[in-house]
Amino acid sequence: MITSTPAPSKFIASLRGLIGRCPNCGEGRLLRNYLKPVDQCAVCGEVYGHLRADDAPPWMTILIVGHVVIPALLHVEQVYEPPTWVHMAVWPLLALVMTLILLPRCKGVVLGLLWSTGAPGSERA
Ligand SMILES: [Zn+2]
Repeated sequence: MITSTPAPSKFIASLRGLIGRCPNCGEGRLLRNYLKPVDQCAVCGEVYGHLRADDAPPWMTILIVGHVVIPALLHVEQVYEPPTWVHMAVWPLLALVMTLILLPRCKGVVLGLLWSTGAPGSERA
């Protein structure tokens, strides 16, 4: 079913991508198998399989994780001076968990923004 409602704004499309929903209708899933975009929305039929986010989602993820983990690490070191093993146990784990949580959300934002701008999303298009 193809809907005839007006296209959502870039902000709304990005927010819908952030929560893993179809940028067009906000109801269908945008990603399957963690990071793979669905070929098309199961609810509204919008096509997403051709969109290529490339390096933007990892770049956004690294930017966010780095700006959270490194200042926190430096603050804890300056204030509490924990032993090195605490740093070795906490910060890599925090960075890994944050990365696994943020990466699909960042990909959703990029795909939502790509879709809303009408960009072909592929060099082969
Ligand atoms: Zn949809």
